[in-house]
Amino acid sequence: MTAWYAGLLAGSLLLSGAFIYLGLENYLQRNLRTNLQEQAVSVADEVLEHANTETQSKIPSLLKQRFASQLNGRFIRLLAADGTVIYISAIPADGSFDPATVPISQNRSKQPYSDDEHLPDYRRVLIAGVPIVTAQGKPLFVEVGALYKPIEGVLQGLLLNIALLMPLMIVVAVVGGYLVMRSALRPVDEITMLAERISSRNLGERLPVIKTGDELERLSTSLNRMIARLESAFQHINRFSADVSHELRTPLTILRGELEAAGRGRRLDADLLEIIGSALEEIERLVRISDQLLAISRLDAGEARIDRAVVDLGELAVSTAEQMQLLAEEKPIEMRYRISKLVRVEGDPSRLKQVVVNLLDNAVKYTAPGGWVQVTVEAEGSNAILDIADNGVGIPTEALPHIFERFYRADKARSRDSGGTGLGLSIVHAICTAHGGKITVFSAEGQGTRFHVELPLFYDDSAFNKTEKRHLKLAGNIIERRQPSITG
Ligand code: ADP
Repeated sequence: MTAWYAGLLAGSLLLSGAFIYLGLENYLQRNLRTNLQEQAVSVADEVLEHANTETQSKIPSLLKQRFASQLNGRFIRLLAADGTVIYISAIPADGSFDPATVPISQNRSKQPYSDDEHLPDYRRVLIAGVPIVTAQGKPLFVEVGALYKPIEGVLQGLLLNIALLMPLMIVVAVVGGYLVMRSALRPVDEITMLAERISSRNLGERLPVIKTGDELERLSTSLNRMIARLESAFQHINRFSADVSHELRTPLTILRGELEAAGRGRRLDADLLEIIGSALEEIERLVRISDQLLAISRLDAGEARIDRAVVDLGELAVSTAEQMQLLAEEKPIEMRYRISKLVRVEGDPSRLKQVVVNLLDNAVKYTAPGGWVQVTVEAEGSNAILDIADNGVGIPTEALPHIFERFYRADKARSRDSGGTGLGLSIVHAICTAHGGKITVFSAEGQGTRFHVELPLFYDDSAFNKTEKRHLKLAGNIIERRQPSITG
């Protein structure tokens, strides 16, 4: 817009400069011609007056005497009908040119006329002529001329002014325009940045409404209304899936009970027993899915009850991993630990445990026998970090943006075979978000995967004052640096 503005401004300045230049040139020329014409008329009157009374030979000296003082930068010429010069004034007082070198035009007419001639050095001369007829019936032409140079001087001065002023005006206008534009568009930048941050997971946020009373205010208000509509639609979907999962539980439980009863007690055909067993397995799976879906929907909708306790993340991770040790040993997979002390967060212990379980379960599940899984817990700035890395199959790049989506599985067949529902990471994500944290994934196919969880570190305000808190934070860092890994 600033470039457009500068272009338009330069265009209109050029146009108005050209108009002023041409207008002034026209005015000055007209003025000079009228002036020359008037002088030619008064010279003609003088000639006529004396041509009647004096002898013609006296006219030159008369003219010289009468007009010499007025001829500054001008000349007077008296021509006979055939163009013979009867009188021509001497070099003017300023010595600017020699009138004798002014060419004699053939364009003389019976009406007062004007003419343009050029000196041998190409300087332009404007000439005004008046035809007269003496009492003796002799036609004569009185011409008064002047150099065009003074007009050129004025025009050049104007041109110089335009040439100097125009770039200056454009620079001032462009810089001013840019600054005004930038300050006017700053709120748009702010709205854009905030709008970028809003996703399905933080639809409760709103854009700032700048009370400008113009399009900008209307735009942010409309966007906010749109976000509110999206929020209510998302809540509706969340409530719907929570309701569906909830409603499914009872019939599934009844179904499971009935199938178990049918399989028990009676002597049933082996095939039928197998069918009942497989149906029971599928029902288990359905129950698991509906439980997980219910948990995610409640967490996402902010309806889930989250207990608040101070949890030592390192201890939680190690105890959970130890419980899952068998799973790893079965394969076998080596478990490695790097746990910093005193990394505490505030949250729901059972849900935080679920995060460790799900991430570890996946790491073991998607790592081939002989591989390793590493659990790291440390403090980083104001965050507690839980990092679970493996050297397993990895996740294809195109699947990475989707793995936290519900029911998304990078390799459907493999995940289903290993009992995966595609909801494990969605739960982890929902729990991290509900705890004010975030989860990131890094993966290279065939090389391994690393899930990186950040949760706000817990500081006990009542027990520590600010300095102690800083020391604690520093101590965490020192432990980290002195003892980068505590392997358990
Ligand atoms: P699932 O129950 O299928 O494991 P998840 O939500 O836990 O569902 O994981 C989603 C998908 O992400 C999985 O199907 C798998 O393809 C991929 N994935 C998760 N963790 C890992 C890992 N550590 N290594 C490789 N792939 C993984």
